[in-house]
Amino acid sequence: MENEKVILTDVTGRDGFQMEDWVETEDKVRIINEIIAAGVKRIEATSFVSPRAVPQLKDAKEVIKQINRENVRVITLIPNVRGAEFALESDVDEVNVVVSVSETHNRKNVNNTVDESIAGIAEINRLMQSGGKKVNVGLATTFGCPFEGLYEVDRVTEVINKLTAKGLNSFMLADTTGMANPLQVSSFVNSLKADFPDVGLSLHLHNTRGMGLANVLAGYEAGIRNFDASLGGIGGCPFAPGATGNVALEDVAHMFDQMNIPIDPDLNKLIAAARDLEQVLGYKLPGQVMKAGQSTDLHQV
Ligand code: ZN
Repeated sequence: MENEKVILTDVTGRDGFQMEDWVETEDKVRIINEIIAAGVKRIEATSFVSPRAVPQLKDAKEVIKQINRENVRVITLIPNVRGAEFALESDVDEVNVVVSVSETHNRKNVNNTVDESIAGIAEINRLMQSGGKKVNVGLATTFGCPFEGLYEVDRVTEVINKLTAKGLNSFMLADTTGMANPLQVSSFVNSLKADFPDVGLSLHLHNTRGMGLANVLAGYEAGIRNFDASLGGIGGCPFAPGATGNVALEDVAHMFDQMNIPIDPDLNKLIAAARDLEQVLGYKLPGQVMKAGQSTDLHQV
């Protein structure tokens, strides 16, 4: 029997570029287009956030205008109703919004309580639904927070309960600072799938402590089929101390490919794109397959 396909969402344009020094718009567009040309079907391309808060993404509208939008769903992160209006104007396919499970992280991130953020998300959802657009909620610090420590799944259940009551039905469980371990990921996913059988769940994992790929596998074995990742493993959260990169897109793709689990993108093209990104950024990226090549690549004796 053929394994069920895994859907990868590339977050290089948002989670990645927000953590870098300024990257020229034409370089951003070229890298994103290379990822799309490799066959990735979902891209979080940028964020309609205030240019004062995140100057690295002040060219969001230009990026959306210039990327090749055929054969891909384009997603942007939005922080508020103003961002939602930009998203509707730009006619993106979906938007992502974020609330932290941790009160402390949420306050640091957006200076709101969790309940205030949930009220804002409900308002954004009404607006986006009137435009026929899907809203996904990223639950930052799902597994633990650098200010409050690790926690039990009940805290996540409570936040999802409040959001489903407002009509939201698609959630990214985000390990914002790479605190989760594989057993925790599988127990959280099992519990949330049992409590919310009808909502969409995906995983957004950071490799801060080297547990990224193990957590991807734990999530897969618990039934998750949607994962975020970024080219070369760049990215992080500007409002969380010690936050580092996402799981690398090409490493995640390579792992699933080696396990005969179908994915959309072409690995050689992803690796070439990661190497191009390394040139653009000018430092060694954390991705590993981009350095070693695929397991099945043979070397001359
Ligand atoms: Zn992230």
